[in-house]
Amino acid sequence: MQIIKSKAEMTSFVENQKRENRTIGFVPTMGALHEGHLALVRESIKSNSRTVVSIFVNPTQFNNKEDLRLYPRDEQADFEKLRAEKCDAVFFPTVEEMYPEPDERIFDLGSLATVMEGEFRPGHFSGVVQIVTKLFDTVKPNRAYFGKKDFQQLTIIQHITKQLNYNIDIVPVPTVREKDGLAKSSRNKLLTAEQRKIAPKIFEIMSIAVLEKEKYSVQELKNRVVSKIDAIDGLRTEYFDIVNSQTLMSINSWNEKCEKVGCIAVYCGKVRLIDNILF
Ligand code: AMP
Repeated sequence: MQIIKSKAEMTSFVENQKRENRTIGFVPTMGALHEGHLALVRESIKSNSRTVVSIFVNPTQFNNKEDLRLYPRDEQADFEKLRAEKCDAVFFPTVEEMYPEPDERIFDLGSLATVMEGEFRPGHFSGVVQIVTKLFDTVKPNRAYFGKKDFQQLTIIQHITKQLNYNIDIVPVPTVREKDGLAKSSRNKLLTAEQRKIAPKIFEIMSIAVLEKEKYSVQELKNRVVSKIDAIDGLRTEYFDIVNSQTLMSINSWNEKCEKVGCIAVYCGKVRLIDNILF
């Protein structure tokens, strides 16, 4: 497995693969890898001749400096995990390498980026799109793998890939969970033992809501989820919405003919967790 730190080296790796007509699958990550990330890597290895994983904690998508400072990092363990999966190359650039000068590009993502995560983390998706386009331009993959765990991010990446005419197949991968239902996340490492015990309640309460949906209106059900979560000491809901999976607009009635996804952000102590579920 090659560990590549510069864009120039990455470009030369890619050119060599393209010359041999090999396909490239790409998995962008921020490291502190877990089984969720590895599910993406395995999907890529299945369908491509070469798999490239990037590990880069992208400063421009953090709207909170403390969150960036505390973000878990464990590169040596990450490299070991990727070697074990038989990943071909890791792109592990520095901030200076990716942002030799400030990225002033502004992307109009419309209402996709102003709701939910976009409302509570202003500028977050602009930063995500800045880094993902830079990575796409360097790695030039045939396919790129994104987790459904970050549902809004996936929708935005699908949208911008079309808008910017990238010839890249965006492949969604289902959320990998702990046995107790908690969505795997690098941020779970930041939970205390007590917080780790209550965090699975988020998915549990959403799962019950899915089963109960015939009994309540959309608004009643949303209120129930929020009040059940907020009744647990140590959990505080930032938002819970049930949206059209394509437009990310709130639905008003169960009769709307669209795929419906419940998206949530909850503070577990100081750790912000997100998850979603199909309704
Ligand atoms: P991150 O390192 O958190 O930026 O995540 C990198 C990629 O892994 C994103 O496409 C995430 O959606 C995906 N991912 C993170 N956690 C999970 C999970 N539990 N299941 C599936 N994909 C995940």
